[in-house]
Amino acid sequence: MECRNWIDGQFLGAESGELLPVTDPSTGEVFARLAESSQIDVDWAVKAAQRASQAHWRTLGAAQRSHLLLRCARTLADAGEELARLESRDTGKPLRQAQADAAAIARYFEFYAGAVDKLHGQTIPLGPDLTAFTLREPLGVTAHIIPWNYPLQIFGRSVAASLAAGNTCVVKPAEEASLSLLRVAELLHEAGLPAGVLNVCTGWGRQAGQALACHTGINHISFTGSPATGRLVAQAAAQNFVPVTLELGGKSPQLVFSDADLDAALPVVVNAIVQNAGQTCSAGSRVLIQRAIYSDFVERLAEAFKGLLTGAAADNLDCGPLISAAQRDRVRSYLNGLEDDGIVVVAQGKLDSQAPEGGFYQVPVLLDHVPPQHRLAQEEIFGPVLVAQPFGTEDEAVALANGTPYSLVAGVWTRDGARQIRLARRLRAGQVFINNYGAGGGVELPFGGSGQSGIGREKGFEALYALTSLKTVAVRHDGA
Ligand code: NAD
Repeated sequence: MECRNWIDGQFLGAESGELLPVTDPSTGEVFARLAESSQIDVDWAVKAAQRASQAHWRTLGAAQRSHLLLRCARTLADAGEELARLESRDTGKPLRQAQADAAAIARYFEFYAGAVDKLHGQTIPLGPDLTAFTLREPLGVTAHIIPWNYPLQIFGRSVAASLAAGNTCVVKPAEEASLSLLRVAELLHEAGLPAGVLNVCTGWGRQAGQALACHTGINHISFTGSPATGRLVAQAAAQNFVPVTLELGGKSPQLVFSDADLDAALPVVVNAIVQNAGQTCSAGSRVLIQRAIYSDFVERLAEAFKGLLTGAAADNLDCGPLISAAQRDRVRSYLNGLEDDGIVVVAQGKLDSQAPEGGFYQVPVLLDHVPPQHRLAQEEIFGPVLVAQPFGTEDEAVALANGTPYSLVAGVWTRDGARQIRLARRLRAGQVFINNYGAGGGVELPFGGSGQSGIGREKGFEALYALTSLKTVAVRHDGA
């Protein structure tokens, strides 16, 4: 399969003619090639987006934009199975997880289609002879630099919001997983999205990604990925005084108190680290357990981990492969020399006997006796590795939970209502979930962190505020 960029309503090969290989993480085999975009291709895409913005998109009536985005949502929903299969092969995630992602992208378009005509400014009373009001205006062209872990979902949350806000978009998917987004671009065009409103340029991050982040025709950048690349993108944005939303991952804790409904907590704690093989920015990668129930709950987790099966994406097991050999080696590097640090592997999942030889597999691992300052408890591993840590008091739990450079999500399991509210306020996280984790996807819920987790919020109405420019108008008139 040879794929081209999607620019100005058509597929176009990279100007250089160069291609880069796409590997199936389940087998390690190359099964497609992508256009290796350079600054020239990115420039074509940005210019197409600028033309579309000026020609019609930014001035299109809110109701018309809403209708069009709703048509996009329906088209994506109809193509859900095709998109899920593409995503599953490309990213290595089990098919049912990819099906959930395909449903989510349609839902993002549906949500933002419904939000377009509810995005209002305000009036500000200034006295009898002055009336002030605010206008929310499109920013222009927005850049979306997308990682490989959830291409469909992350495209949905940032691009649907940006189109709804009246912007046109240039997307740079990850070199490891671009296929579903090229198909999405084509489907959205079929649904009626005019040429140039959405453009997708594939290629290497340091080449195509950097060219996009540095382009002077861009008016906003949404980036999801690593803190190291996020810093480069923020520096590029600073050069051009462009606002930026950075979503950089986490080391998110789930706090399990002794009064919790442990039967309800157990499968959610396991799923929060096993989903997408732990390659999730909001993965629950630390479980903090109150001492009174520590050994019992760790034992129950261990039993669950031992039953987890890892294998090819198409086999739809608990866990698929990691995205690449490099990512697998990175995760394994965290698991070397554990005994020297006194860290205990409590339990591991199993590799399916049918898993192809060349795939990038890492079974889920449950670790105990990890010192709070150890890198396993501090750094984002981005693999199926869960660190269990005991705490005594609520204060200790809060100190442990807040004791990393990240602050994206936290989960709390307790039946004590007052404690639920106290912890919701005390935990340093962009989202706190009480007796659940993720609220079923949360298209409507503002999402994002601070510190090494990033800057700004996506999802819900907050995304629309970030993707519009607020203009204040004050009119002097005769007194009323
Ligand atoms: P990355 O941050 O380098 O890549 C993310 C996106 O940025 C990709 O589209 C990539 O092409 C692009 N990119 C890379 N260099 C760029 C540059 N100089 N300018 C502009 N864009 C650029 O992430 P990675 O190398 O794929 O993964 C490394 C680590 O990052 C992972 O192990 C994981 O810990 C973390 N990560 C986090 C998330 C998340 O959702 N928070 C997603 C992917 C990776």
